[in-house]
Order: sequence, then structure tokens, then C-alpha cells
Amino acid sequence: MTQVVTRIAPSPTGYMHIGTARTALFNWLYARGRGGKFLLRIEDTDRARSTPEATEAILGGLEWLGLDYDGTAVSQFERAPRHIEVAQHLLASGKAYKCFATQDEIADFRQQAKVEGRSTLYQSPWRDITDPALHPDVPFVIRIKSPESGLTVIHDQVQGDVNIKNDQLDDMILLRSDGTPVYMLSVVVDDHDMGVTHVIRGDDHLNNAARQMMIYQAMEWPLPIYAHIPLIFGEDGKKLSKRHGATSVLDYALMGYPAAAMRNYLARLGWSHGDDEFFTDQDALNWFDLSGIGKSPARFDHKKLQNLSGQHIAVSDDAALLQEIQYFLTLSSEIDLHQKISTRLLPAMYCLKDRAKTFPELLEKAAFILRERPIEIEKKMEKNVNISSLDMLKTLTPQLQNVSWSRDALEALTGQVAETHGVNFGKLAGPLRAALAGQSVTPSVFDMMLILGRNEAIARLSDMQERGTP
Ligand code: GLU
Repeated sequence: MTQVVTRIAPSPTGYMHIGTARTALFNWLYARGRGGKFLLRIEDTDRARSTPEATEAILGGLEWLGLDYDGTAVSQFERAPRHIEVAQHLLASGKAYKCFATQDEIADFRQQAKVEGRSTLYQSPWRDITDPALHPDVPFVIRIKSPESGLTVIHDQVQGDVNIKNDQLDDMILLRSDGTPVYMLSVVVDDHDMGVTHVIRGDDHLNNAARQMMIYQAMEWPLPIYAHIPLIFGEDGKKLSKRHGATSVLDYALMGYPAAAMRNYLARLGWSHGDDEFFTDQDALNWFDLSGIGKSPARFDHKKLQNLSGQHIAVSDDAALLQEIQYFLTLSSEIDLHQKISTRLLPAMYCLKDRAKTFPELLEKAAFILRERPIEIEKKMEKNVNISSLDMLKTLTPQLQNVSWSRDALEALTGQVAETHGVNFGKLAGPLRAALAGQSVTPSVFDMMLILGRNEAIARLSDMQERGTP
């Protein structure tokens, strides 16, 4: 068996789209799950639209998603001499020809064909005029000789066999009159030279495949295996666009989704393995196959992503999670988590990661750890500060000095205090939360006490009593 080689070939003309990320993931999973190679080619031949920032966004997106590629990124533009060489080779071998037709002549041809009800695909008279003596000294393009009859069949792994009548394929231009290669030629030459065995890409390229196959056949190169995956739609069934929310991969990093959750979600977008929704990278690597890719467009569902994200956060290793949160904070450049803070967050991670769907949600729950005394109490928590609640804290606080600092002991003690005051524990939990955190989104009061430690917890309770009712 030859080694599987896949690639992602984005055009660096903007941000990195979710669809590009999904295509990259599929290619990465397919190759890595089979001990193959995953390559990156930047299709930067459109000089007017390609920017270094867009290339950076692609590299950043792949890095965030953890989709490592083999070797170095290939620049398509830099390979132009090789693309030209192939066109020249086709010319020399009679598989391509010089076409001297002017724009006007082509327009006239089309006009005439229309009037006569014939196909408007241009048929150049120069196809058969091979004698150089008959060639004028004017600019020319190089066209490939397309097959005049028969069928081109794309054996697509997702779409099935796609038949295209060869009389629908014109003699495509390979080199423009300024000598530059066309994109269609560059893709084929690059894929061939890079040893790409499987072309997995969006189905907006399906029509290109038939034209690209002409070049493979003319060069007598082995065809890659094609898999054209349906595009991604928004929840309303229309092609995913900014109207549906963020479409840039890095926006999802900035929203604080873990990369593992994003990989899991993107893998499910158009591919399935039974009813499995939540899975690890290893599962995906074991399971991913082209046969699991659906034929209809997948719908981007933010709720599903959030759901998976919460599950991934909940099962993450604490230290790894902290590291990813630190990366998130640098990326969003909101706060710099200093060493001191990270050592404070780590012991609390076990409860912070429970039910947080994103890193900002997790950090909101962590805010009580990072606050300095005396803690400010947010407006909506003030209802917990009244004569009777302060009275309960007054009973509780001295007893916290000697109680064993364990969940069981704290639960028993607070339960007792509530009972003495003739209320259920719920009535005490509110004031405790106000005193310990000053806000409503927190872990449980017991987790907070355990995390803060005896002295800090007592000090925060005392602060609230000293301050008195608002
Ligand atoms: N550059 C193309 C794109 O960004 C991909 C071409 C291909 O995968 O063959 O859509």
C-alpha cells in the first residue's frame, strides 16, 4: 500500500473560514489515522488578493486546532516556473497548442454559435495548425487539447460516480498570453509533485476535478482519489456566512472554546460514526473514513458546539486545561494570568470545569479566587445581606475556627447553624455566597471555602458582618 498523502490548499485571501478548518481536519484525520502525511500548500497565485496576514491567519488557525502538517508550507506562486515547464512539456508532446485567437475573435465565435444554437464553448482553429510557419508573431495562450467525445467519470468517494460529457469541456487555457500559468494547472502540478494521493475538499471544486483530470491524463500521471465534501450551511439551511455568526476559526478560539471541542464538533460537521457525538481525538483518528461523509450539507449548530465544549472542558486534565486557558488569555489579551494566579486556579479546577461551556464561563466562576478583600458585593447579591443573615454568619464564623476543614464537617456545621436559626440551608447559602464571592455565578459554597482556605474564608465572612446591611 502506498502511503496516504493529503493536503489542505487554502487561498490566503482573508480570515480562515470554518469550512477550510473542517476540510483541513478531514484531511488531517484521514492521513494521520493511516500513518500518512498531511501537507499544507498556500495557493497564493492571485497576487492582488493574497496577503501575508491571511497566510498568518491560516497558520494560526491550524496551530490553534492542533493540525500539524508535515514539512514546510508550499507557496504555489513560487512554483510557477515548474507549472510553466509542464505546460511547455504538453505543448512539445502535442497535447497542448498555441492559440493566437484574439478576444474579439472569441467573442465573435460565441455570438455566432449562439445564433446557430450551437455550444458556445470556444473551439479554436489553432488546435490543428501545428506548423510554426503558419503561426503569426502575436501574443498567444497555450491551450490543452480536450477529448472531443466520450465521458469523463469522476469516481468520487462522497458523491459517487460523476459523469461529465467531454464535449462540455473546452480546450482550457494552461498559460495566459503573459506566460503565467492558470490556477487549474498549478493545482494539478502541485498535487502531483507533492505526491498527494487523496484530494479531500469542498464540493464547490467538483466541476474543477473534471478539468483537472484532463491535465493528469495528458501528463499520464496517476489520478488522486477524490472526495468532494458538501459545504457547511447555517441553521437556516443557507450557505454559512457572517449573517449566521462567526465564520472565522480564530473567532472560536477567542470565544474560549477548547481546541479539542472544536475538533470534535468540526469532525461531526458532515461526517458521522453511528450516533457518536462526543469523542476524543483518538476515537476520531480510529474511526474517520470517507464513507462516513454525508452527501448533504451539514448545518452549523452553535448549541451543539457549546454542548460538546462543556463536555470536553469537564473531562480535561486540570493542568492541561489551565495551560489552554492561559493561551486563551494571551490570545484575547484581556488578562495576563500570572504565575501566582495560575497556582491559585489549579487546585480549583476540579469544580470550575464542571458545567462551564467556554473558558470565559469558567473564568467567571473563578473570579472569587482572584478577588481581593474586602470583596465588592454585586447589586443583585445585596438582598442576601440583612439582619437575619448577618446574624447567622455571626453564629457560624467563630465555629469555623475549630471545625475540621473538610466538606463533610463544613456541611454538618452549616446545616446545624441553619437549623438553630430555624431556616433550611438554602437561606444560609445565599449570604455565604455573597460574603465569599460577592457574585452569584460561583462553585458551591463548600468548594469555595475549601479552595479559599480557613483564614481567607473567615476573613471574608467577617468583612461582610463589619460592613453591615446596605
Ligand atoms: N484554494 C482552494 C480553496 O481555497 C482549494 C483548492 C483545492 O483544494 O484543490 O478553495
